[in-house]
Amino acid sequence: MEKLTSPRVIKSILNEYDLHFNKRYGQNFLIDENIVNKIAETGEITRDDLILEIGPGIGTLTSALCKNAGKVISVEIDKKLIPVLNETLKEFENVEIIQEDILKLDIIKLLEKEMFCNFKIVANLPYYITTPIIMGFLEMDLDIEKMVFLIQKEVGERLCAAPGTKAYGSLSIAAQFYADVEIEFLVPAQVFMPKPKVDSIVVSMKKKKEPDLIVDNRQMFFKIVKAGFNNRRKTLINSLTTNTNFTKEQVLQALNDCGISPSIRGEALTGQEFAQLANYLNNQENLR
Ligand code: SAM
Repeated sequence: MEKLTSPRVIKSILNEYDLHFNKRYGQNFLIDENIVNKIAETGEITRDDLILEIGPGIGTLTSALCKNAGKVISVEIDKKLIPVLNETLKEFENVEIIQEDILKLDIIKLLEKEMFCNFKIVANLPYYITTPIIMGFLEMDLDIEKMVFLIQKEVGERLCAAPGTKAYGSLSIAAQFYADVEIEFLVPAQVFMPKPKVDSIVVSMKKKKEPDLIVDNRQMFFKIVKAGFNNRRKTLINSLTTNTNFTKEQVLQALNDCGISPSIRGEALTGQEFAQLANYLNNQENLR
């Protein structure tokens, strides 16, 4: 059979099953064999691995994953793609297709019955839910050896951005709190069908055993981070006063005692400094 990356094959599958690319589900299928193989290689997959794939589409990346993995579980929301996947993946005995919304699936329960040494996630993500998917897995109490995601370039840059850069924001701090994030390679819009409006990027993430920031209260930490970036053009003191219940005096005191300039903007603050500030304010709140 011709490769699933061939536009001619994709068109004939769509025809045969009376399907259309569903924009609502972010259906942009890969049409470049090298990119598909490179994504799978980035996963460093072995027979000891259980791989979760989100959004198999017509099974292009899934086939590459099945070749080296112990088992692949692919979760696809679109009912109409299930008969296609049953056909395109029929040669593999190590694949399980689940028709479900990944955001509604109980992953921890799903994995209870599996017996593999390593659990990894490899996916060409549906772009409209990139952030909730990634944050969901980072926050989940689950041992994940490695995550490899093909996502919008702009989101990838935000995930690994450093303080003081344009891409740096609350997503950078949240992702780097939980994981070591690396940009692997760029993926041009031309390798998808249909072609999306933006370029893409492959990132890999390894969850930290323990976060390296010392944070007394995670809820307070993420509240302060979010508030600090809410009005990017405001100084930190103004953003924190506007977006939290702390008074200007309390915020000023906290900044002074943490040795942080009140005129600084949130985007210049490191995760470490946000943690210090959040711990201080958390302490103040506990004393009230
Ligand atoms: N893996 C295929 C490829 O690389 O060619 C398709 C990737 S396409 C960008 C995203 C896939 O995710 C589509 O097949 C889409 O139907 C599926 N999808 C969208 N929303 C989903 C959700 N909430 N849960 C599971 N799959 C979803």
